[in-house]
Amino acid sequence: MRGFDTVLVADWSAAKMAPKRPSKDAIWLGVTRDGASQEPVYCRTRKEAEIWITSLIETEKAAGRRLLAAFDFPFGYPTGFAQKVTGSDDPFAVWDWFEHHITDDANGNNNRFDIAEKLNGIFDGPGPFWGKSHRDLWPGLPYRKDGIVFDPVVEKRACDHVAKASSSCFQMSFPPTVGGQIMMGLPTLARLRRKGGVAVWPFEPWEDAPVVLAEIWPGIIEAAVKLAPQEEIRDRAQVRILADALARLPAETLAAHMADVPVQAREEAWILGAGLSETLCSLVALETPLNNDCFALPPGVRWTRVDDALALLRDRLGLVTGTQTVPLSGALGRIAAQDITARRANPPLPNTAVDGYGFAGGLPQGRHSLPLVQARAAAGDAPGQVPRGHAIRVLTGAALPDGVDTVVLQEACDVIEANVVFNGPVKPGANTRKAGEDVQPGDLTLHTGRVITPADLALLAATGVSDVTVRRPLRVGVLSTGDELVEVGQVARVGQIFDANRPMLKGLLTRFGHVAVDLGHAPDDRAALRELIDGAVGCVDAILTSGGASAGDEDHVSALLNEAGAMALWRIAVKPGRPLALGMWRGVPVFGLPGNPVAAMVCAVIFARPALGVMAGSEWLDPQGFDVSAAFSRTKKPGRREFLRARMRDGSAEVFSSEGSGRISGLSWAEGLVELGEDVTEIASGETVRFIPWSSFGL
Ligand code: AMP
Ligand code: MG
Repeated sequence: MRGFDTVLVADWSAAKMAPKRPSKDAIWLGVTRDGASQEPVYCRTRKEAEIWITSLIETEKAAGRRLLAAFDFPFGYPTGFAQKVTGSDDPFAVWDWFEHHITDDANGNNNRFDIAEKLNGIFDGPGPFWGKSHRDLWPGLPYRKDGIVFDPVVEKRACDHVAKASSSCFQMSFPPTVGGQIMMGLPTLARLRRKGGVAVWPFEPWEDAPVVLAEIWPGIIEAAVKLAPQEEIRDRAQVRILADALARLPAETLAAHMADVPVQAREEAWILGAGLSETLCSLVALETPLNNDCFALPPGVRWTRVDDALALLRDRLGLVTGTQTVPLSGALGRIAAQDITARRANPPLPNTAVDGYGFAGGLPQGRHSLPLVQARAAAGDAPGQVPRGHAIRVLTGAALPDGVDTVVLQEACDVIEANVVFNGPVKPGANTRKAGEDVQPGDLTLHTGRVITPADLALLAATGVSDVTVRRPLRVGVLSTGDELVEVGQVARVGQIFDANRPMLKGLLTRFGHVAVDLGHAPDDRAALRELIDGAVGCVDAILTSGGASAGDEDHVSALLNEAGAMALWRIAVKPGRPLALGMWRGVPVFGLPGNPVAAMVCAVIFARPALGVMAGSEWLDPQGFDVSAAFSRTKKPGRREFLRARMRDGSAEVFSSEGSGRISGLSWAEGLVELGEDVTEIASGETVRFIPWSSFGL
């Protein structure tokens, strides 16, 4: 089964219109798309939610992304209910029955208690529905459960026992209740299921459907929700974390889980993830929460040298991503989470490196004639046998038959009648490869932290490794700040400039192998900035901001991080690039990059890249530089390191004509950076300088 690209988790509600200000007990929608958590959506009414979900279904279908949409209420009632109410066992008959009977106005006023009372009329005795908002209304609906006999329809479905869900479909009031949510949810589902490409699990074939609707129960990830930031609204945290956990479940695990449902599920439905609670929680658990004083500098430090800054980052940051297992075909660019060893030798058997004739042992100087056996050995053939003193025709890659350990090149031979004739001497073992001469079974092939390359895929495949445990991708938010910025494509008023950093930083992150999450743009206003960063907490593992990082009046990034008490303005002795504001915001590291695009990019590749690499689980990434001759001359202040936009031409490094750090054209012109060390004061044309190509930064 193809996995899901997008996961939606809906926390449904049976209540009237929820307040304007996001609050609990409303509808919350969590979405994880292509591995990245989106900001949860707050809906005040069911109408609003239905419109939003309908448009999500259309967007994902149009983009060719497979969508799993999970809802936190039962899709069916205990066995026998459908027959009793609709005269049919088909669970969809119940959906249509509710769609027909439920009323729900624009303010969320609805008739669910009337309908519960009406349904009770179909059953003998009090119940099965019970619980209401007014003790004295709806006489046919008991206020309490006492005295209800659940017969012939039992109180709970089979899956409610497996998932340990605490509420029954028949409970209409008192938390935790789902009775009302089913009635107020099934009409929406009945409409959604009629959209093209939508299938309902487990009632319909779902294996190839572009959109699958499924029931979930958020209680299965309670352990992970407990660890969410305390300030976060619980329902918001639930949908966010559950969408993320489901999205991280390996496609095969999910497929096997979805295929494995008992017969009762045909009418009662089933809870997605029932029995997978621990797995799901472990998928969203952080490896190591980072310390709040991650970026504190030693007291008294005014200027930090680049190497010291890098050493601090290397020291203070830790791995934050969990693991997942992916097939080899999906492993390119991922980070190995374990050492990988060969399951098979390469080559597995001794074989011939050339086309020619094989026989036993070395032969002395002189002319030799060996009788040929009738067979030939080609690549892929199981090795046969060759009698002593005989030879066999062999083709490149063929496993050596028993009795063959040496091969002569076909170009050196004549075949005369049934003999092969050639001149010696021939060394024993000539033109053959030994079994395991490249890799032995059990050899370490890739070590933990390795970013898997195309060549690594060849090595893994050759040594029989079909799936790999890798780190799940690091999610990095990108945020621009500044009143002057406007998104390209919109109208720029006089005085405004287009936001150049955000597309650049997102591009850098993608090339680094992370998931870039667009957090948009904040004006120079601390409250607005706080709201954006707050919204991102829980959805991202780190944040890159650009602009507003100095200590000026409009430098709100550093002001905000200062307020959190966990910020350090690093005055790094580097050009371009000052200043770099590093801070922790509610457990999330924030890299406050300079606003100037050139400085932002240099800081991102020099400092953010290795720091994010550590968080993502890769080994420390030192860019490989090369000593080349300078095609320029320059004088420079001592005491700081400088990076010049540069490119290689005719074996020498040339640099961009201007050093202005707003010159974006120079970034695009460059193919890398020339690094001038702290002590350098003068470079004459022809002297040796260090050139670091973009490719050394993974670009
Ligand atoms: P700041 O660090 O906010 O003082 O910004 C320094 C310079 O970078 C100013 O000229 C800003 O207009 C410019 N700048 C800041 N952010 C961006 C951006 N996202 N795209 C292009 N230029 C920017
Ligand atoms: Mg600014």
